Amino acid sequence: MSQPVLVIAEVRAGKIRQVTLEALQGARLAAGDSAEISAVIIGSGITGLAGELASYTSGKVYAVDHPELVSYNAPAYLHAVKGIVEELQPSRVFLGHTAEGRDLAPGIAALIGAGQISDVISIESGELYKRPIYAGKAFEEKRFLSSSGVVTVRPNNIPPATLAETAGEVVDRSYTAPVDLRSIVRDVVRKAGGKVDLAEAKIVISGGRGVKSADGFKPLDELADVLGAAVGASRGACDAGYCDYALQIGQTGKVVTPEVYIACGISGAIQHLAGMSQSRVIIAINKDAEAPIFKVADYGIVGDLFEVVPLLTEEFRKVLA
Ligand code: FAD
Repeated sequence: MSQPVLVIAEVRAGKIRQVTLEALQGARLAAGDSAEISAVIIGSGITGLAGELASYTSGKVYAVDHPELVSYNAPAYLHAVKGIVEELQPSRVFLGHTAEGRDLAPGIAALIGAGQISDVISIESGELYKRPIYAGKAFEEKRFLSSSGVVTVRPNNIPPATLAETAGEVVDRSYTAPVDLRSIVRDVVRKAGGKVDLAEAKIVISGGRGVKSADGFKPLDELADVLGAAVGASRGACDAGYCDYALQIGQTGKVVTPEVYIACGISGAIQHLAGMSQSRVIIAINKDAEAPIFKVADYGIVGDLFEVVPLLTEEFRKVLA
């Protein structure tokens, strides 16, 4: 690739998201070790983060720092990126396959007249991009036919980039809001205040209708605390009002690929599997031995979750103490 490769970083709660380092590594896999990979970081008060990002790539890190960019806003962020991509004309642009990345990627693709390959889980030599299709039942491998392309990378699939031998240079870019900006984000109120980000969690513990009530999530929360895990849910649990829809995993919810997924009182409907079947190890706890979740589980416990989950918490507490 003779033209530059660009990664669009994502910042959440004052930190660079893990998926940004995974996108950097994806860019490295696609472009080769010798390629110069630059990055763009957008936000307010991000000078320190730009320096941190520069330690992961020897290319330039373009920092667009402005108080109006404190929260993600599609037209404002696209405007912040516009001058940089028009100047660099990158051959590839990498983003996380997150709510923000999915929103921004098509705008960038349109800006540079590029194609897009989304939800990539691995990149093979010759720039072959693998992605799940049909809700994770099959995979397809794609490559770009054009000289420019935009790629979104699914969190937790590509290993994160390691520190670069030589840190890159931070380049400050100014930002002036476009005159036709139709909306501004005043505040972001997060509903589900989970301690661990569901999309990037290494361990996810999910509850289904089997938890029976909002209080039924308490044993799951306790196990999650001990393991440093995130808590998710089936749509059954969300529809029943036991938890917020922000926790929903599945076809119409979030897609997660943790190292360990523990499904508690979840039957294993195809729409739920679409959001978690790519997890590395699946553990199912269900009192019905015939529940379909056991077909995809690596380990199954037939039993009452209200007995099994506290026992697990107790044992892990001893082991991890
Ligand atoms: P149930 O199917 O009712 O299963 C509850 C399970 O808990 C049972 O297997 C039972 O044996 C077990 N159980 C009960 N008590 C206990 C106990 N004490 N201990 C242990 N086990 C116990 N679903 C999603 O999850 N995510 C989606 O994104 C999604 N999108 C959908 C999109 C569409 C278009 C449609 C039509 C459906 C979608 N669904 C989705 C819904 C999906 O089809 C199922 O209805 C839903 O996943 C069922 O949730 P559940 O497994 O929690 O509940």
